[in-house]
Order: sequence, then structure tokens, then C-alpha cells
Amino acid sequence: MKLNELGLLVVISGPSGVGKGTIRKALFKIPDNNFVYSVSMTTRKPRENEVDGVDYFFVTRDEFEKRIKNNRFLEYAEFVGEYYGTPLDYIEKNLAQGKEVIIEIEVQGALIVREKMPEAVFIFIVPPSKQALLDRLMNRGTEQGADIQKRIEKAEREYNLAYKYDYIVVNDEVTNAADRIYAIIRAEHAKTERSIHMYYKLMEGNTNGKQKH
Ligand code: 5GP
Repeated sequence: MKLNELGLLVVISGPSGVGKGTIRKALFKIPDNNFVYSVSMTTRKPRENEVDGVDYFFVTRDEFEKRIKNNRFLEYAEFVGEYYGTPLDYIEKNLAQGKEVIIEIEVQGALIVREKMPEAVFIFIVPPSKQALLDRLMNRGTEQGADIQKRIEKAEREYNLAYKYDYIVVNDEVTNAADRIYAIIRAEHAKTERSIHMYYKLMEGNTNGKQKH
């Protein structure tokens, strides 16, 4: 029997351009992991190389708003003029199966999850310096001028919310950051508050301190 059979919801968050997506991909390369990625839904247009159902579910505003009305999101947020949201069913199903569900979302959405699922693990990714984030946003070539500016301004506000998270991970080097997240997940599973109920159940099976076989 495992001490903790329910999966963890791991929220990877932080300013746009900090490298959340790259870290998440590195995390999934760690051997023998039990992670699943919750693909978000968005109204923004796909970038070159992005695949529907893999990077995002790309939908119209109408469709997104219909899903909001029907309570189909764990959380959603409007980020520089587009909707982004986490579909609820996928999360519930995988947590019940004991998988680690990783979601990668911006700060507003993460704070909503914090209210709804305080037992989730909240990780804030920060750049090694402000300049590093600026360079990345300017040079990654996925946004145009006005959009880059909006993302920079948003990042400035988001930096101040780091204290609301459980952990801060610096993205100095992608594999380092992924390793730290992996270590956090393992440690979280061992936390007394997560495992005490299963521990007692395990002990009920013991007689005179001897383990039943
Ligand atoms: P991008 O347009 O760069 O793919 O994403 C913009 C921001 O939205 C990023 O910070 C990304 O992490 C965040 N994001 C992606 N999916 C979701 C989601 O389902 N919910 C929320 N709140 N943010 C998301």
C-alpha cells in the first residue's frame, strides 16, 4: 500500500516568458514519472508549430464563454485580451487515478486554484534576473511589439505576488529548475498532512507492532 494514493495537482506559474513551458517539458523527460499534463484551452490564435490538443485546445470566444457558463473550468483568466482556462474533467479524472497533474498557468488563474484547491502545490518560476525575462520576451519571436509590451507590464505586477506561492524556483538552467520541481513533488508526498490518514490505515493492519504479511 502506498501512503498517499491520491495524485497531486502541481501548479507551475509565473510571468510570461519565464520558461514555464520549457521547464515543464524537461520535467516530463525525467524517467519513470507519473505526470500528466493538463492541456489548457485558449481563444488566442495558434503560433507556428503549435498543435491543437497538444499545446492548447484552440477555441472561439463563443465556445469558451459557453464552457464558462457550464462550469467546465477549474479556473480561467483573461490574459492580454485572450481567454485561457483549465478544463475541469481531465484534472478530476487523473487525480483520482493517482497521477500527478501538472498545470502551467498565469498568476490570476493560479490564485483562483489556490482558493478552490488549497491542497495543490503552488510553484512560482522566476527568471535569474529581470533583464533575462526582457531578453526572452523580446527575442523569442512569438509576439509582436504591443503584445510584448503588455506582457512585460503584466510581469511587473506578477512579480509582487510570488509570496502567495508555496515554492519559488529560479529558472537559471532548465534541467536544474525541472529537478527542483521534481524534488518538491516528492517531498510534498511525504508531508504528514497528506499521508497521515493512509498511515493510520496501514497501522490498523498491524498487531503487536508486527507487520502483517
Ligand atoms: P501564451 O500565450 O504565452 O501561451 O500564454 C500566456 C499565459 O497564459 C502564460 O503565462 C501561460 O502560462 C498562461 N496560461 C496557459 N494556460 C492557462 C490556463 O489554462 N489558465 C490560465 N489562467 N493561464 C494559462
